[in-house]
Amino acid sequence: MRVLVPYLATHGLRPFQRYFPDMLWRVEAKARTAYLTFDDGPTEEMTDDLLDLLAEYDAQATHFLVGQNAETHPDRVRAIVSAGHRIGNHTYTHVDPWSVPEKELLAELTRTSKRLSELAQSRIHALRPPYGHPTGTLRRWCAEQNQRMVMWDVMPGDYLKTATAARVSRFVIRHVRPGSVIVLHDNPICEDVTLPALETILDTLTSEGWSFDAL
Ligand SMILES: [Zn+2]
Repeated sequence: MRVLVPYLATHGLRPFQRYFPDMLWRVEAKARTAYLTFDDGPTEEMTDDLLDLLAEYDAQATHFLVGQNAETHPDRVRAIVSAGHRIGNHTYTHVDPWSVPEKELLAELTRTSKRLSELAQSRIHALRPPYGHPTGTLRRWCAEQNQRMVMWDVMPGDYLKTATAARVSRFVIRHVRPGSVIVLHDNPICEDVTLPALETILDTLTSEGWSFDAL
């Protein structure tokens, strides 16, 4: 199972991607540019170290923030933005779009979008559904609000109980392609895995000529 989840989340979804062209899976790119994304922040445990590490390698990223975490850590939201990263909507309380009533989901999205744009002082244009669970409601909301639903093409499973830094970094280094969208987490459940894995990823890939941009 420990190998299967990242493998399925990375390769298993590819056949379905063409049915959902409105959702972003990978950026069309020829150059060695990849897109790191971090879900669930900002957090007291991890965000500051994460920003330091990204800065060390001159890497930009996209942070899909949980609205209530942003309310708790407004200065960290501002720090993310002023470091040149982009932020996106990851709902207000990290609800599961597959199990929450439609009205509640839309209220979560609207509230988060409003608060994040106030903090960033710019419009928020991207969203990632918690648990990677898209719905028709989400797709309609994105179309109406001119938002982009960002999925991924590389999911190393850093949040899994069985994850190790070595396994996560190896998975990303092996699967990255030009324009890849890579999912990692800014979440205390995986800081011991994600930060050392990220250091190896950045160190290895930048030495091979890769650079990292925000969506
Ligand atoms: Zn999440």
